[in-house]
Amino acid sequence: MFENETKTTKYVFVTGGVASSLGKGIISASLARLLKGRGYSVTIQKLDPYINVDPGTLNPYEHGECYVTEDGAETDLDLGHYERFTAITTSQANNVTTGKIYQSVINKERRGDFLGKTVQVIPHITDEIKRRIVLLGKKGGYDVVITEIGGTVGDIESLPFIEAVRQLRYELGFGNTMVLHLTLVPYMKASGELKTKPTQHSVKQLLENGLQPDVLVLRSDVELGADLRRKVALFCNVSPNAVIESIDVPTIYEVPLKMQEQKLDEVVLEKLHLPCEGESDMVTWREFVEKVKNPKDVVNIALVGKYTELPDAYKSIVEAFVHAGAANDVKVKVQYINAEKVNAETADEILGGWDGILVAPGFGHRGIEGKITAVKYARENKVPFMGICLGMQCAVIEYARNVLGFADANSAEMETPTEHPVIDLMEEQKNVTDKGGTMRLGAYPCRIQRDSNLYEAYGQEMTYERHRHRYEFNSKFLADFEKAGMRATGVNPETGLVEAVEIADHPWYVGVQFHPEYKSTVKRPHPLFVGFVAASLKNRNK
Ligand code: GLN
Repeated sequence: MFENETKTTKYVFVTGGVASSLGKGIISASLARLLKGRGYSVTIQKLDPYINVDPGTLNPYEHGECYVTEDGAETDLDLGHYERFTAITTSQANNVTTGKIYQSVINKERRGDFLGKTVQVIPHITDEIKRRIVLLGKKGGYDVVITEIGGTVGDIESLPFIEAVRQLRYELGFGNTMVLHLTLVPYMKASGELKTKPTQHSVKQLLENGLQPDVLVLRSDVELGADLRRKVALFCNVSPNAVIESIDVPTIYEVPLKMQEQKLDEVVLEKLHLPCEGESDMVTWREFVEKVKNPKDVVNIALVGKYTELPDAYKSIVEAFVHAGAANDVKVKVQYINAEKVNAETADEILGGWDGILVAPGFGHRGIEGKITAVKYARENKVPFMGICLGMQCAVIEYARNVLGFADANSAEMETPTEHPVIDLMEEQKNVTDKGGTMRLGAYPCRIQRDSNLYEAYGQEMTYERHRHRYEFNSKFLADFEKAGMRATGVNPETGLVEAVEIADHPWYVGVQFHPEYKSTVKRPHPLFVGFVAASLKNRNK
């Protein structure tokens, strides 16, 4: 939209104070969506202060789900929000951790690139942080890069990031950069008062580190009112129109609309000296939110997995159900079921009555037998079934054991002796010893067979879906499976790797080696989830 101007990328830095988990990711994604709705090209980056090179080696109980990008980066789950809200495609460069920064600085040091200098946090670590921020903007030629800094201001480990932002503001120009700081305004029930002191303190902390916020977003349970916002503006050196309130809403998808009501996008554009005419086009977004808030029916899905105590562990799956629910005019209620509790005796009780059953991705043997039992239940009782990654592998094992009669069938991952490793380690994985970043990751092509649930969902022969696995369908047994009625309805055209399996004589049964949930967005609810929800709705109404 700015052909006549030499492009200067503008940078928005998002920091958080008072407490963690205030929703910086959602605010960043909401702002990005609002700017996109005005025709700006935007991307979002997450800087994570932890020392892991990426979250791929983290247990989901640490930081929730590991999100996988198209180019095969294992990243923070906030990138999932970015993609779901904005339909932009993120990449390796969109998630930078302290581990990554140090790794590249140390590699340079080992190569001798620093020519005998002492390597220090300032300037070497901060330079590397700055380089990664600016590079993303330059490479993509974006109008705006939103960079979210993980953690809370005042944490020891986020200091180098804050310092890098301080320097960048100076180097790129104050009119080309801005800081949006998100804080919490607690409501004290006993005295019936809202407290601004934590916000004042966290802004003070930011100032001590050399950053003056331009915009404050205040998270709160209740409405803040103009007086309180004026008070915060006065004490925090922020213009009153730049104090925005963010009240808890029933669905995160309402946040962009709430931010638009308060003109967050206008304030940001003003601070960045970017043109701001008319308003952001949120028409389809609003329609989507209306559907989410006013469903015509309910569909109940059982999600059988092993990380069931933490809602964030299956974040992308849960969000994909929100999108697919809206597409079907229903609310999808997802109930987490602990796979370890499912066995032949409990299956009827635990799994009876659901409209659809999803068997989740995962690693290791814990809960695997429960997952296999859940597939059996869904297959025999003709309950719509979707198996994702390990869930698909369980479907293959279950079919081998109970239909093909390979009683000992298993995945090589489970390390139990078997004559029938129907799921086996991929050839290229056999010499891999490092755990980090070594799986089969990112998007690969999948050719879809006609006359399948897959084809019905996608309506096309080719698709690209994202992966994160080491094991695969053992093609040695493919002929046995096809003879017995389990078809490979999706196959990688280059390697022949089985990407999807289905069976006949079942209302909807799909196992996929890939993770469709990573590619579901508000703009394009994932066709497989839409198909699964539709089948579950039909099952419910039958
Ligand atoms: N553990 C299985 C594998 O590595 C499945 C992985 C997953 O579900 N993401 O192949």
